[in-house]
Amino acid sequence: MWKEIAAKISETTGQPFEITTHRSVGGGCINQSYSVSDGTLSYFVKINQANQIDMFEAEYLGLQQMYDTQTIRIPQPLCCSIAGDSSFIVMEWLEFGRGDSRAWELMGQNLAKLHQAKGSDRFGWNRNNTIGSTPQINPWSDNWSDFFAEQRIGFQLRLAKRRGGNFPDTGKVVARVKDILSDRNPQPSLVHGDLWSGNAACTVAGEPVILDPATYWGDREVDLAMTELFGGFPAAFYRGYNQTWQLDRDYETRKPLYNLYHVLNHFNLFGGGYESQARSTIDRLLP
Ligand code: ADP
Repeated sequence: MWKEIAAKISETTGQPFEITTHRSVGGGCINQSYSVSDGTLSYFVKINQANQIDMFEAEYLGLQQMYDTQTIRIPQPLCCSIAGDSSFIVMEWLEFGRGDSRAWELMGQNLAKLHQAKGSDRFGWNRNNTIGSTPQINPWSDNWSDFFAEQRIGFQLRLAKRRGGNFPDTGKVVARVKDILSDRNPQPSLVHGDLWSGNAACTVAGEPVILDPATYWGDREVDLAMTELFGGFPAAFYRGYNQTWQLDRDYETRKPLYNLYHVLNHFNLFGGGYESQARSTIDRLLP
């Protein structure tokens, strides 16, 4: 497998590359991660079963689209392919360190610049991708409330019911979500889509980076909401974001609704207490 990965790296860069060391990297949720090196150059490689190639192709495209905006540091993707029973993605190796408050402020500023980047006048994406290991469905839509209600909440709610979750009628919840978002017409922003603290880091040089995205064109507020779901990012991050692109005053009212998507997804992935957390948000939403 390592020979095939090295060959693909060489083919992509046009430079000879031989893997002389590969070292396992911890911290991921879905894949096995490695640093590979020829003694001079290093790359970051994620590996899964061959049938997960779609997931890596979507990650590659998401990283590439975000990279192309030149707004926030992203590990530059190099290639993805299949080697025997495995699929893999290769990207730029980044050395992470501890971010200070200046780095977090810059993270906020740069995320706002990513959100400001133009590129689509519709919501959705070029292809489906995954959120954790759950499919994330991205058909193009002109209407944010329809898109979020159907493709985000409705989709997860149907999965949650199949998993045995006790939730109200999907049609009723979807209709209510459409209603709540009916006057929300955001500019489509290229969102990271899975912005919890494990997917935000700073290089040793203090440069903020976002990684492992579940990209699509959506309401910028979904990224901000997710940063707050598990305790929040440092205050400097929100200061930086608001300096560059002030959040709307009624963002707070939509935050629990946007995070309901991730809470339902956590129930679908992990079960347990996420059912009651999702349930109480839904109960508050329904009249
Ligand atoms: P998974 O897809 O399994 O969730 P991640 O993309 O989150 O994996 O990566 C796992 C860990 O590897 C991250 O938490 C981070 O510490 C490290 N990592 C991710 N990308 C890079 C990179 N480009 N360079 C160096 N380390 C990385």
